[in-house]
Amino acid sequence: MINIVIFGAPGAGKGTQAQLLAEKFDFLHISTGDLLRQEVAMQTPMGLRAKAIMNRGDLVGDDIVVALLDRALRQRSTLPNPDAAVDPWDRELYGDPHRPEGCIIDGFPRTVQQAQTLEFIFNKLQRKIDCVVAIDVPHDELVRRIHERAAISGRADDTEEVIRHRIELYDQQTQPVLDYYRVSGMLVTIDGSGEIAETNGRICKTLELVMHLKAKR
Ligand code: AMP
Repeated sequence: MINIVIFGAPGAGKGTQAQLLAEKFDFLHISTGDLLRQEVAMQTPMGLRAKAIMNRGDLVGDDIVVALLDRALRQRSTLPNPDAAVDPWDRELYGDPHRPEGCIIDGFPRTVQQAQTLEFIFNKLQRKIDCVVAIDVPHDELVRRIHERAAISGRADDTEEVIRHRIELYDQQTQPVLDYYRVSGMLVTIDGSGEIAETNGRICKTLELVMHLKAKR
């Protein structure tokens, strides 16, 4: 059972890599961006509040994002009492072969405050973050990818102007979160400037090592 958090600026390929890793390692993939887009599509009260903020490329309020994350973490478990102080994904305890081997959280935390909230949620579930992966892509390459993505993406927040704003926010608000994890020794920075498969190979090697070391403990 391993818990991963993945980071990357818009254009770094964070969502794509999270999806590939979830498939390869049988991880539960929780993307706060996807959870929010689902709420928007279903026009729920949370979705209606989030829509304009997301379209501008700003950060949605913690009340909404944390509620969605908390719900996703609990919904995927079949624990009779989600507040019980046990690991809700423990395969051995609950004997469910379909329980994921771990989870990968993509899009959260985006601020130091959110990082502290995640720690609090995980503590309640008696879990801990095993590895924080930051996909690093040089600014020029991000800009090149943004041009490409803006031309083909159907997302309202994928216009060039909005993506630039999202990169600025990433630099201002999310980079300090990486420092937070760097200090606690959990951060691994991966070169994401190449092809998807290349980056994926690098992340897989790191995670295999993390799992190996964890299994030996
Ligand atoms: P993403 O798919 O991760 O790029 O997220 C798309 C958008 O969803 C972001 O630009 C934010 O508006 C919103 N969002 C996703 N995750 C968070 C979060 N942890 N905190 C605040 N807003 C978020």
